[in-house]
Amino acid sequence: MCGIIGISSDKDISKELYYGLYSLQHRGQESCGIAVLNEDNNSINYHRGMGLVSDVLRKEELDNLNGNIGIGHVRYSTAGGSHVSNCQPLAGVCRRRKLSIAHNGNLINHNYLRQALEEEGFMFQTSIDSEVILYILSRYYKGNIIDSVKITMDYIKGAYSLVILSEEGLVAVRDPYGFRPLVLGKKGNEYIVSSESSSIDILGGEVIRDIEPGEIVLINNGEVKSYNYKDNYKEKQKTCIFEHVYFARNDAIIDGVNAYEFRVRSGQILAKEDDIDADIVIPVPDSGIPGALGYNKESNIPLKEGLVKNRYVGRTFIKPTQSEREIGVKLKLNPLTSVVKGKSIVLIDDSIVRGTTSKILIDSLRKAGAKEVHLRITSPPVKYSCYFGIDTPRRSQLIASKNSVEDIRKEIGADSLKFLSTDALMKAANCKNIFCMACFDGKYPIEPMVEED
Ligand code: AMP
Repeated sequence: MCGIIGISSDKDISKELYYGLYSLQHRGQESCGIAVLNEDNNSINYHRGMGLVSDVLRKEELDNLNGNIGIGHVRYSTAGGSHVSNCQPLAGVCRRRKLSIAHNGNLINHNYLRQALEEEGFMFQTSIDSEVILYILSRYYKGNIIDSVKITMDYIKGAYSLVILSEEGLVAVRDPYGFRPLVLGKKGNEYIVSSESSSIDILGGEVIRDIEPGEIVLINNGEVKSYNYKDNYKEKQKTCIFEHVYFARNDAIIDGVNAYEFRVRSGQILAKEDDIDADIVIPVPDSGIPGALGYNKESNIPLKEGLVKNRYVGRTFIKPTQSEREIGVKLKLNPLTSVVKGKSIVLIDDSIVRGTTSKILIDSLRKAGAKEVHLRITSPPVKYSCYFGIDTPRRSQLIASKNSVEDIRKEIGADSLKFLSTDALMKAANCKNIFCMACFDGKYPIEPMVEED
């Protein structure tokens, strides 16, 4: 998963790109970068590096990145390793035309495309699928960026939201299924495209609308032109439901669904379907907070802060070894003994993937004196891998892929365990039939081209 942003303005935008990327930091903490087209359109300047936005993009770097059009990227690797060569935006020159791209999503046919390009002599400098997009784009870029984007879309399959920097302007593209979000906003004479509406709010702009699935938008000199890839894809839309379950910020509105309200409703529905008689509701911070508020609202069981979060610990989810993931969770979340001692607790989290977090939390709550721990999850069991950009592990590592709810309960040590059903999840999403729920139901909108274990 990654975050992307693009800005087209009549003034220098490097600082805005920086703040915009900052607002997308939750979408990727491994690396980041900014590319700008300089004022005389003569070159693309960029700076990329491993680390957080505030570490990589320092004042000295930003001072050298002047331009009115630019793009930015924060990375959370899902295809290709965590290495400096895989930082984005990617940039290059072909037949004297400059291009730079930033990509969010995963292509499912990139191995095949890469092999074909390598056969033709293309030398790859990264191990990410996004480089395939840049090469196909530049190969067919003969003066009309929209034509070359359309040809590229004929080749690439899977999830892609893109921002492209070209001499013709800023281009934003959302794949025909709209797997990953992409939002268009305006601030005076300036246009902003971002993975999440929150960045547009934070930069002081107004959200205009979501970029539609299969839509290509070209922004130049204060003018926005919209093109359809082929048909109108709105009917086929399959936006990732996990954006709402976990990934997006609470203040994001994606395809008309408010992430915060979605999460609160999920908690309310869970409580409505529940009959547990507990003393307190405790959220797993931060992702479980809106769900716990909803659960508390519906059940009237008092909501308490029972876990203290260390805000300086990064992601524990993708640490390479299980023991590192375990110490990571312990460092990140610690129980408040005075709150939990002797209490029967409803613990709310947004998801269970491997089961690491819940197992450790339940154990530490018991050690802190909790009488009972009833775990409630505001999404269904994650049974299938995601090939479209969410970093879920191989199927064999997903605890729900081979265990019943009762087996999971025993494994993580909860007194009881309940998940939201897929139907209830749809209800929480206002019954909008626009979501990919393949991680929960195995119904992949495009058949993945991989071997499963
Ligand atoms: P696990 O510990 O493997 O069961 O993962 C579940 C926990 O990680 C929950 O607390 C989620 O909030 C969080 N989580 C779920 N999906 C992801 C993801 N793709 N990246 C990072 N954290 C996640």
